[in-house]
Amino acid sequence: MRLKNNPKAKGIVLNHPLVINDPSLNKGKWSQSFLNNNPLYLEIGCGKGQFITNLSKLHPDNNYIGIEQYESVLYLALEKAEEISPSNLKFLCVHAEYLTDYFENEEVNGIYLNFSDPWPKKRHAKRRLTSPRFLDIYKRILKSHAIIELKTDNDDLYAFSLETISDSPDFLLLQFTDDLYNNPSMINGNISTEYEDKFTERGKNINKIIFAKK
Ligand code: SAH
Repeated sequence: MRLKNNPKAKGIVLNHPLVINDPSLNKGKWSQSFLNNNPLYLEIGCGKGQFITNLSKLHPDNNYIGIEQYESVLYLALEKAEEISPSNLKFLCVHAEYLTDYFENEEVNGIYLNFSDPWPKKRHAKRRLTSPRFLDIYKRILKSHAIIELKTDNDDLYAFSLETISDSPDFLLLQFTDDLYNNPSMINGNISTEYEDKFTERGKNINKIIFAKK
């Protein structure tokens, strides 16, 4: 998601109390930053923040970090989060490629990937957030048996992800559906994202995959 550049976005993100500007200083020490030892969950590509903000509200005993590469998008998530100013939610304005610089081996309890960029061209497959390169990054920062949950409108990214996860020696496919909204057990407790609301309004099927680190 790229939005028209808001000249104020950079300043807002840089100075915002919910944003950690030098996350490498917290590597291995996120519990100190949150002032508790609660489990830590990440959403990679949090966009305008609806999902992670609502999730953090529902689970005050977990810690959450929303990760978004663009300031122009993240500042909108900050506006949303400010309304409730949760103590268990923080944000990073970074690219997922560098997650191992910010999180120690096995520091993270789970990851959410919601409506990630599909990168449809074959030559861009490496950029997809479920490519083997990214699975390897997740493997390192996740605890064993940690869960990754992925939702996407994009049927090709769904098929690609099922393949990379099945081919990976490090992850176990647990549950998947190509029609989340007609799958009673998987839709139960669902928290929707901005993209999800847009696509379901248009009647588009939503795909979901739940997989775990072995
Ligand atoms: N999760 C939101 C937004 C989906 S759009 C929703 O479902 O509504 C995907 C978002 O992920 C975009 O805002 C994009 O900038 C961000 N993103 C994509 N690749 C990323 C990466 N490698 N690192 C960090 N953010 C990324």
